[in-house]
Amino acid sequence: MNKFAFIDCTTVDQALDQLGGGATVKAGGIDLLDLMKDDIVSPAMLVNIRNIDSLRGITISADGLHLGPLSTLSEIADHPEIQRSYSALSDAAGHAATPQVRNMATLGGNIMQRPRCWYFRSSDFDCKKKGNGSDECHAHAGENQYHAIMNNGTCAMVHPSSAAVPLLGMDAQVELTSKRGKRMVSMSDFYVPPEKNVINETVVQPGELITRIFVPAPEPGTRSAYQKYGEKESFDWPIADAGVVLVMDGTRCRKASVVLGVAAPTPIRSKDAEVALTGRPSMKPPRALPGGPPCRAPRRFRKTATKRSSSRPQSTAPCCSRLGRCNVTQAPLAKEDQHVNPTCSDQLPLAPKQVLLWCLR
Ligand SMILES: Cc1cc2nc3c(=O)[nH]c(=O)nc-3n(C[C@H](O)[C@H](O)[C@H](O)COP(=O)(O)OP(=O)(O)OC[C@H]3O[C@@H](n4cnc5c(N)ncnc54)[C@H](O)[C@@H]3O)c2cc1C
Ligand code: SF4
Repeated sequence: MNKFAFIDCTTVDQALDQLGGGATVKAGGIDLLDLMKDDIVSPAMLVNIRNIDSLRGITISADGLHLGPLSTLSEIADHPEIQRSYSALSDAAGHAATPQVRNMATLGGNIMQRPRCWYFRSSDFDCKKKGNGSDECHAHAGENQYHAIMNNGTCAMVHPSSAAVPLLGMDAQVELTSKRGKRMVSMSDFYVPPEKNVINETVVQPGELITRIFVPAPEPGTRSAYQKYGEKESFDWPIADAGVVLVMDGTRCRKASVVLGVAAPTPIRSKDAEVALTGRPSMKPPRALPGGPPCRAPRRFRKTATKRSSSRPQSTAPCCSRLGRCNVTQAPLAKEDQHVNPTCSDQLPLAPKQVLLWCLR
């Protein structure tokens, strides 16, 4: 690891004064310190923002949910109002990593974490993402079972943030602050595909700090869910995940937002799934969904893993909150009923898992 300076800041202005010229923001430090220890990044200075109080806090107001970027994944997962009104976000935060990591990991750091591609994470390999002059993508001809199944022509990394999936589905916005002022960027513009910029994954510029994440208030009748599939039940990034946000009009779906996570270099919306869901009554998932996006190589591996997980109870229930009560009747639910309840009128018409299997077919 290189020698570096460490600056502790207590205000946003102090942090902005330090940024630029080789300095990097450090929040929880989980991803950043891993990258430094593996010699993948070597910042000359770390600007520690963990002690900036104004970057903390979760506020719910009439216009929506305001999240300080230092909100931890645990705080988001455990917040009763997020569990109730933004269930997919609470599920995504609560199913990432381990309890210890979730207590330290911040939302800002989570949506900014770098790719998990094992060639990128190893100092033994150069590749086009590292910007060292290499024009190689080792994943194209090498070991790629965890790599992108869509949009993988330039760089086959998959986007790693679980929280970004519901944030995109809920039309969240990210506030970026620099010495030049503030700007709001919608989640749909926040991530940059490798075809536009293979080195940086986001639109965040040097000298900019994420100072807030805003999620608009859900329309009446909104239901959301997130599901993650991994190779093992304990800590790991997903090998497939999806978030579904539906606006229900009685028993019909009026508006659908379906987002796939670790399928491509950026989280992507599945427009075909959204069209197929819109206007459908609940409890009647479409038998044959129209043609999905083109899939490439490593999809068979993930499809098998996702199918295998069908026997496991999923705590990310479409109809039941993780508070142990039915969202509709508020009746207490036994532990074994805290997943899909076939009689519940609050059921989503299509579970995230069905979306995933359809896209991976
Ligand atoms: C065992 C394990 C399992 C994991 N599983 C999952 C999983 O399933 N799903 C998932 O999503 N994640 C998973 N993670 C990743 C983990 O959630 C992230 O590493 C963590 O959220 C990063 O947050 P941090 O606060 O530590 O960020 P840091 O490491 O401090 O920062 C990460 C990056 O974000 C930048 N940054 C941080 N805050 C700001 C800000 N406010 N403004 C601008 N830039 C900023 C930093 O400069 C850095 O580039 C896992 C991690 C581990 C160790
Ligand atoms: S997938 Fe991207 S990060 Fe991984 S080797 Fe290819 S170019 Fe590098």
